[in-house]
Parts: sequence; C-alpha cells; structure tokens
Amino acid sequence: NTAYRNKKVLVLGLAKSGVNAAKLLHRLGALVTVNDKQKFDDNKEAQALLDEGITVITGSHPVELLDEGFELMVKNPGIPYSNPMVQRAEALDIPVITEPELAYSVSDSTWIGVTGSNGKTTTTTLIGLMLNEGEGAGHAYDAGNIGIPVSGVVQKATAADTIVAELSSFMLVGIQTLHPHIAVLTNIYEAHLDWHGSRENYVKAKMRITMNQTADDYFIMNWDLPEMHELAKQSQATIVPFSRQGAAGARATLTDGWLCFDGERIIEADALQIPGAHNIENALAAIAAAKLSGVANTAIVAVLSRFTGVKHRIQYVQTIAGRKFYNDSKATNVEASTVALSAFHQPIVLLAGGLDRHLPMDDLLPLIQAHVHAMITFGETAPLMETLAQQAGIPYQRTENVKTAVPLAFAQSNPGDVVLLSPAAASWDQYPNFEIRGDEFIAAVQALAESEEA
Ligand code: ADP
Repeated sequence: NTAYRNKKVLVLGLAKSGVNAAKLLHRLGALVTVNDKQKFDDNKEAQALLDEGITVITGSHPVELLDEGFELMVKNPGIPYSNPMVQRAEALDIPVITEPELAYSVSDSTWIGVTGSNGKTTTTTLIGLMLNEGEGAGHAYDAGNIGIPVSGVVQKATAADTIVAELSSFMLVGIQTLHPHIAVLTNIYEAHLDWHGSRENYVKAKMRITMNQTADDYFIMNWDLPEMHELAKQSQATIVPFSRQGAAGARATLTDGWLCFDGERIIEADALQIPGAHNIENALAAIAAAKLSGVANTAIVAVLSRFTGVKHRIQYVQTIAGRKFYNDSKATNVEASTVALSAFHQPIVLLAGGLDRHLPMDDLLPLIQAHVHAMITFGETAPLMETLAQQAGIPYQRTENVKTAVPLAFAQSNPGDVVLLSPAAASWDQYPNFEIRGDEFIAAVQALAESEEA
C-alpha cells in the first residue's frame, strides 16, 4: 500500500489509538508527527514512537505547525471539532479523519461494524466468538472502541479474515470511505448529547455507519424502536431487522421463547447465560450477523450457551453465602443502570454513585421501587441516589468508594439476593476509568469471600 508514502500526517492525541495510528502510518512510509496537549514526561509509548523516528510534540497545541504542509490529520475520537488544531486543519482543507477510517483505508479484510447507544461491546464480542466458532476460512478480530485499535489489527488481518469493529459515534463522525459489509445499529438512546450538541447530530453520527453501504451489504437494525423504521429509509443496504417484541417484518426474532432467524429456531432464551431482555436483543443482533456470514447454528448455540458476559457489563463475579455479586461498572449512565435493574428477578442491593453530569435520575425510581431493597452510595451523585432511596422508602448508607461499599452491601443483603455494582454515573470523580472501578469491586468481593471463609 503506497497511499501514505511520504505523506505528512499529523496524529492528534497520544492515546492508545493515536499510538497505533502513528505506528501504522510510519510503517506505510508516512512522515508522522504526533501532538498531545498534555505533557508526557516518562511516557513509554511516546518514547517508543520517538525511537522509531516519529516526531512527538507534547505540552501544547502549536497551531502554526499545520501550516507546514500537512496533508492529513488523524484525530482522537474524543477530541472535539472545536479544538484549535482541528479548526486550523479544517480552515486549511486538511482532511480530518479518525483512526478506524485510517485502518479501513489500508485493510482488505471483510468488515462488520457495530454501533448503538448500548450493547455495542457485548454484540461485537458475540459476533467475533460466533465467527471464530464457525468453520469460516479466516479469523475474526474484535477491534475498535472495544479497546483494541483497528490500526494494530489491520496489520495482521488478511483478505480471508473479518474485522468486527465496535464503532462509537465519535469515531463515525470522522469516517469517509469506511464501509462495513454488515453494519449493526443496536439501539439509540439519549447519550453523549453534550458532545454531539443535539439528539439529531447524535443520530446522524450513528447513521454514518451505513452511509457507504450498497444493496449488497446488510444493515441490522432494532425494529422494536419505531425511530429505526424511518431511519432505515436513509440506507442503501439490505435492511435486516431484529425484534424481541414481535415487530412485524423482523428476521431475527424472539418467538415462543426461542431466538429465531428467518423463522428457524436457533436457541431457547432460557439457555442464554447473560441475563436480561437487553441481552436477548444483543444476541438477536449477533445471530443475524453470524447467519448472514454463513455461521452454522451449532456454532451460534455453542457460543450463546457458554458466554457469561463481557467484563464490567453485568458480569457475574461470584456467589458468597447465597448472594450473587455482579459487576456492572460500565453502567455510566441512567439508561444502562435501568437495564441492569430490570435484568434480575431477585431482590437487589445496589451500589451506585459517581460523576455528576447534572442529568435527571428520575427514570431510575420505578426500578428502584420494584427491585432494590437497600442502597450503598458513593461519589458525587451519592446525594441524588439517596433522594431516590428516600422516595422509594428503602434504607441507604453512604461510604467512601466501591471498596468500602462491598462489605456494607453484604451486611445489608440476604441469601438469594443480587449485590449489584451499577453506578448510573461515570467513574471520573474517583477513578481513572470504569475498568479500574470494576476491578476494585471484583477485588473487594474476593476479599470478602476470603474473610467469610476464614
Ligand atoms: P456499549 O459497548 O454500547 O457501552 P456494552 O455491551 O458494553 O455496551 O453494555 C454496557 C451496558 O449497557 C450493559 O451493562 C447494560 O447495562 C447496557 N446494555 C447492554 N446491552 C443493551 C441493550 N441491547 N439495550 C439496552 N441496554 C443495554
């Protein structure tokens, strides 16, 4: 591939995706500069780039730099378009793309793209597992927003392989030619409106996943959301609807307790390990993608009957004295926690709280009333969660963090309960990310198990 040889490219943002994009471009012969506003003193990744001969500028955004003949900018998806570097690039008509677009432009693999407000990682993971369980010629690689930059993966994936890319709306805003053979839109709920400015922009960003598709491609959509019926008209692809609730015209359905595709029974809903109605939807979307890729039913069934969930997403941790502990640290908004609270029929002791985005929490109240019998709170939104507990008339207790919350939750619980970390808030008031918050929960549960055995 010679498209990038001697091309002057600026990579904006030195996160994992920026590092991978810079390495890929360098290998393709581009003249790469990486810029990050943050100063990195002993950053190993930055040092590795310098060692390879890549220019790294940190500590500021030197806008003048862009006047030195740059031909392309690869922007970290989280950096807003109002950033001065991006503004300058746009003023100079320098194309601004995100890292998946770069990866796509040099890839000859088949692409499956997954987007949506919720369920992306679960659906992406299921599709990857199903494709690899099947007898297909190549290998399926999970990549993208799931935490594995696609730029790294495209260097090993061949034409016989499939890249299953989780694509956030932030990533999709910065694509140009990216064209998945199979696209999945799991759902659209209110999220990230602050970044995108309006719901309309958010929906537009998501719909970019299908913008380059043709009639030979497939667009798997959630037919239980009436909005999708309208959005489908914007796509040139063959629409493949899925429905848990019996919507007319769906191809992947929940019918008489079975997950079906084109009327054929594939697996009973009760055989799934992952709890909740939302996971039926994720499984239906994944089944559709797997069937369209030619995966055998036996492979689909094998995956769905053993998969216990992606880490930090209503992940089963362990049982202590009859209480089942679940880690849903990924629930960084009210919608996700609503889903988690609806996923169980057992009484729940809820651990919740985190970054306050000043959004209404009221949607949680009916679910708290119906399922939660005690609450442990922490972080900035602790007072908001406590208001809900008061309204529901259940006991609550405030504590410092997730670690100290676990023994308190255990003390409040009864055998047969679910003890659930589902914070309904981002982690950044107390933790670097939701993974570290979830890991702290898992460690605290393990410590509790040991002290209970002792
Ligand atoms: P994403 O990658 O889109 O954030 P995940 O698969 O990681 O989605 O799931 C994150 C959380 O979102 C889950 O713990 C659950 O609470 C919720 N969720 C997952 N799938 C769905 C769905 N299909 N519909 C609604 N909520 C969902």
